[in-house]
Amino acid sequence: MELFELTIHELHEKLKRKEVSSVEAARAVLARIEAVEPQVHAFITVTAKEALQDAAAADKRIAAGDVDLLTGIPIALKDIFLTRGVRTTCASRILENFIPPYDGTCVAKLRERGMVLVGKLNQDEFAMGSSTESSHFGVTRNPWHTDYIPGGSSGGSAAAIAAQQATATLGTDTGGSIRQPASHCGCVGLKPTYGRVSRYGVIAYASSLDQVGPVTRDVTDCAILLEAVAGYDPKDSTSVNLPVPDYVRGLANGVKGLKIGLPKEYFIAGLDPEVKKAVEAAIATYRSLGAEFVEISLPHTDYAVATYYLIATAEASSNLARYDGVRYGHRSAEAKGLVEMYAKTRAEGFGMEVKRRIMLGTYALSSGYYDAYYIKAQKVRTLIMHDFLKAFEQVDLLLTPVAPTPAFKIGEKTSDPLQMYLSDIFTIPVNLAGTCGISVPAGISQQGLPIGMQLIGKPFGEETILRAAYAFEQATEWHRQKAKI
Ligand code: GLN
Repeated sequence: MELFELTIHELHEKLKRKEVSSVEAARAVLARIEAVEPQVHAFITVTAKEALQDAAAADKRIAAGDVDLLTGIPIALKDIFLTRGVRTTCASRILENFIPPYDGTCVAKLRERGMVLVGKLNQDEFAMGSSTESSHFGVTRNPWHTDYIPGGSSGGSAAAIAAQQATATLGTDTGGSIRQPASHCGCVGLKPTYGRVSRYGVIAYASSLDQVGPVTRDVTDCAILLEAVAGYDPKDSTSVNLPVPDYVRGLANGVKGLKIGLPKEYFIAGLDPEVKKAVEAAIATYRSLGAEFVEISLPHTDYAVATYYLIATAEASSNLARYDGVRYGHRSAEAKGLVEMYAKTRAEGFGMEVKRRIMLGTYALSSGYYDAYYIKAQKVRTLIMHDFLKAFEQVDLLLTPVAPTPAFKIGEKTSDPLQMYLSDIFTIPVNLAGTCGISVPAGISQQGLPIGMQLIGKPFGEETILRAAYAFEQATEWHRQKAKI
């Protein structure tokens, strides 16, 4: 196996035994990026020079006997994470030349553990989208079939794993942005419970929904990376002060006796037959491993997408008010006077989808419509949350599809935003409820595109979904399939 194909835990073993150096691993990954990037375009910025410096520093640590699981591991981050001294764009023209003066908490934690940062990954602009087509820096292609989208908004994170351009990556998930691209690119992607991981230094889209999480080659790597970034952070008032479990140690506990719920609202007409087949096969695998299944109901599922697009756009319109051409980022060169400067800066700096959402959100928050739309959406959100809490009185976790179809073609849905929004139907409710979900490879379509399944856990039940995901992974071969690029 090539060095760039290894998982975190495999590469760690080699580094520890001094079979390879971190500089060698970094060189291998950087060469791989150079080789496949023209076809995939997973990166906005490749940090080759910094990566080699990080790797040399990691080798020193390793030589001194200080070999943490992440020391010397080549990692790439979605371009939504503030990285000190490294351009951070959020895939927007408005931040095209923005160089943050500090690291966000997750980045600082990974740096402390000795990661080698190989670059910043493409995404939808401000994480608004499901296909990575709304990036100012061009589309990312699905490494399994380059006519297809990799999913979004963390499309670069998933594509880089599938094309072996990084050992592991971080993404963010507001309505499915980790799980859906992981599903479309054959990776493992976990959205933790709201509050599990600090959002400090992560560019805000919809603050009550955003969460950081790993996109990796296998479940073990996912557990390793989650453990590295999880935990309380006084700099994020919404992070929760609960101890971080040893996620890796719990993996091998199996699923015997676990009760898994199947929400009947998720197995509907419109579900692609190949996705349905993959999920049914996963159910059979779990049965053979000793899990029990119960049909449950999440009665407010139908309202989730509408609720999400009111709350997320309302919060986005407020969060994005800070891009005014004064404090940082792009400023229009042509404007005369302050008001024109604001207007022109934002007109030039934001793309179409971002503008659409700012307008929707501003409308939902405007006086006269606030009660009818925004407050109503908040009430429905509570009902959706209660659906999940009620289901979890009966079962330990839920099993569902991640997306109604495998990846779609580039350009197929760009002219029809509603169709794009509807593709998030199975991931959005998890964010509204604030709980956790993981996407695991569970099949490959006739077109050769990966299909994932989703396990949804109780709030702070990451251990359980990771353990169930691991049991499935060990019983199947899907995670060993590789994109031929
Ligand atoms: N696709 C959803 C949206 O467009 C979710 C995006 C996300 O999770 N960041 O908002």
